[in-house]
Amino acid sequence: MKPNTTETDLATATERHLLNTVGVAPDQAGAPEVLQAVSQAVREQLSQRWVRTQANDRATKARRVYYLSMEFLIGRTFGNALASLGLQGDAAAAAEKHAKTLEDLAAGEPDAALGNGGLGRLAACFLDSMATLGLPSFGYGIRYEYGMFAQSIQGGRQVEHPDSWLENGTPWEFPRAGIGYPVCFGGWVEQPALPGGKAQWRPAAEVNAKAYDMVIPGHGTDKVSTLRLWKAVAPAHIDLHAFNSGDYARAAEVKNQFENISWVLYPNDSTPAGRELRLRQEYFFTSASIQDILARHLEEHPTLDNLHEKVAIHLNDTHPAIGVAELMRLLVDQHGMAWEAAWKITQQTFSYTNHTLMPEALETWAVDLMHHVLPRHLDIIFRINHEFLAFAASKKPDDVEFLRRLSLVSEGGEKRVRMANLSIVGSHMINGVSQLHSDLLVQTIFSDFAYLWPERFTNMTNGVTPRRWLAQANPKLSSLLDQTLGQGWRLNLDELAKLKTAGDNSSFRIAFAEAKQHNKSRLAALIHKTIGLQVDPTSLFDVQVKRIHEYKRQLLNLLHVITRYQEILDNPNGDWQPRTVIFAGKAASSYHMAKQIIRLIHDVAAVINNDRRVGDRLKLAFIPNYGVSVAEVIMPGAELSEQISTAGTEASGTGNMKLALNGALTIGTLDGANIEIGQAVGDDNIFIFGLRTPEVEAQRRAGYQPMRIYEENARLKSVLDAIASGAFSPDEPDRYRGVVDALLWGGDHYFLLADYDSYVSTQLQVDRRFRDRDAWARSAIANVAGMGPFSADRTIGQYAEQIWHVQPRR
Ligand SMILES: *Cc1c(COP(=O)(O)O)cnc(C)c1O
Repeated sequence: MKPNTTETDLATATERHLLNTVGVAPDQAGAPEVLQAVSQAVREQLSQRWVRTQANDRATKARRVYYLSMEFLIGRTFGNALASLGLQGDAAAAAEKHAKTLEDLAAGEPDAALGNGGLGRLAACFLDSMATLGLPSFGYGIRYEYGMFAQSIQGGRQVEHPDSWLENGTPWEFPRAGIGYPVCFGGWVEQPALPGGKAQWRPAAEVNAKAYDMVIPGHGTDKVSTLRLWKAVAPAHIDLHAFNSGDYARAAEVKNQFENISWVLYPNDSTPAGRELRLRQEYFFTSASIQDILARHLEEHPTLDNLHEKVAIHLNDTHPAIGVAELMRLLVDQHGMAWEAAWKITQQTFSYTNHTLMPEALETWAVDLMHHVLPRHLDIIFRINHEFLAFAASKKPDDVEFLRRLSLVSEGGEKRVRMANLSIVGSHMINGVSQLHSDLLVQTIFSDFAYLWPERFTNMTNGVTPRRWLAQANPKLSSLLDQTLGQGWRLNLDELAKLKTAGDNSSFRIAFAEAKQHNKSRLAALIHKTIGLQVDPTSLFDVQVKRIHEYKRQLLNLLHVITRYQEILDNPNGDWQPRTVIFAGKAASSYHMAKQIIRLIHDVAAVINNDRRVGDRLKLAFIPNYGVSVAEVIMPGAELSEQISTAGTEASGTGNMKLALNGALTIGTLDGANIEIGQAVGDDNIFIFGLRTPEVEAQRRAGYQPMRIYEENARLKSVLDAIASGAFSPDEPDRYRGVVDALLWGGDHYFLLADYDSYVSTQLQVDRRFRDRDAWARSAIANVAGMGPFSADRTIGQYAEQIWHVQPRR
């Protein structure tokens, strides 16, 4: 019999770390010190699993998947690590010795916010699933010194603050002193003397990429995975001269020129930043990662000829697309492989996920800039393009426009390299992230590529990890699920389907509603703590949380809020369903319109929340600093999930999945994964409104006239007139002229006015349904029950089987 000694083990280890690692007398330890000590004790256990997992992968020469992503929006690790090791109880006991709860401790950990939004959070959910499924895998990214900016609100406006998440170090990373690679930039290329020979790149500068590993624990397995992040370090020799001459300021400046590559995350998630430093960041982490991959391969295999049999490299969007040229460079220039052989291997090795349909959001780089920063890679891209266009011409002779659209280089005006085209040509599989998005990819922006290679395009609908987004974020609902279904849903989310019958059981519905009420109170407390607003925890909690972007249409939501406000004033004795409308989200620092929308939300909130005629019937709350940890409180407390993007603009969404998983009903357009969510939960348990994608397209083509709608819709006119005339900004009546003008005169690019009526009337249906609390609970339960397919485990299982051909080992 194995004695259960883990509690004493963890408690003992904690005391040992307090004394030896943290350096504090155990009776003097506050929450930060206890957190550090428990984390160190947990780290030890993870480290041992890590060594075992790696040794096993090495011994079996496993085929591995490498997930390259510019962003990983991880959030906190403490709670997740404890859950993965099954150590929550032991840790709680260890904390209790110091009169602390686990919540006290966890709150002290800063979020690792190395990403902007959905794309980065997806990468983090995927790491969790890859570890849990036991896929031999690595994530690769950048160890940003400063992650996503922290948002505060001052005078209704977003203010950005640096996110110095590493200030006090982190127990979850392991610096790998021995692992580093040179990454070169600039200079010129010595062309081969003979055609087909090796080119010599003579770079102008070199920086070292140093590896820092973050441990990614798997759940229900002793497998762990690795997120390897690169930090830029100036080469030791570079500043010696200035240092020797005593000019320390100059030495520091030179050092900074190199090290700024990994300083800060670009606070933007859809448009290319267009800055040279961003290109350097992309190449920096991609080059270091691929050098590392080749080095690992050569430790296990005598040759690179079988690279594609042992290595799958995945491009999370086009940010690492330069990897296609980099692998070619390494194989041909450094390892002497023939171009044709290298190209076959490269294409078989890469796969690519697209994340946007909006052409203006596709990444391109000016040829001139690329020539300046990566001259050898530009040559390689030109050659790839030359051979690709020759192939394409053979399929559609004499169609010049076809070739123009396919080219890796856009002509007409400034020449630019199209990173999506490079990714497609360099990959054997390309996927979208929801069924609609994948269908539209091959019908619209990538139709020419799909004509050439229909078999390369596929769909991988996104998912989220149930460990963080249900087990960790929603302990109340989780324990109800455990009582009802057992604990297996954590690793097999399809087991939630068994709830379909539990919804008929009134005592289950009551317990379910109680859990929701508890979580609403927790959310109400967060609102009160952050902005000082009291909200009624029995009102309908209507939630839109995501990056602030015109296509996501927070402004449409606000038009409904103002409509409701005006109608309450017009009809003060009406039987209004009380609502609390909750927003959270960051705007890119350079995105003026998104920042105006944040300010307008605050101005409208100031009017409505202080209007005594409205009372508790309508409240508007903007929770600052949206991020993973804030989301973990919001998702469980939400009742209505706003997923209202213009049809055809949201690739998938994952916030929609997290909210439904926590029992919120969706009000949404037929966009992204909303469509699949609707199919999974049933038409009666989702509120769909608005134009569909083909209808939006048809109206665009026919010449959409928002002004017409404005003139014909008195309710809408009254709302827009109120905004435009300064009803919410009396101190500056013109403040929102620009916002309204963009709708009326600027063409209303995202069709807010077209969808307004349908949206507002659907909100009335929401009210009606909510009044029948029992019917609402049944629908909420049906939402949870239908969420099995939206586990990231399902998504990663499909990638592993259909794209990566890597074996899960659970
Ligand atoms: C899930 C998530 C997102 C993505 O939300 P969408 O609604 O899909 O855009 C963005 N940020 C954070 C912090 C998240 O957790």
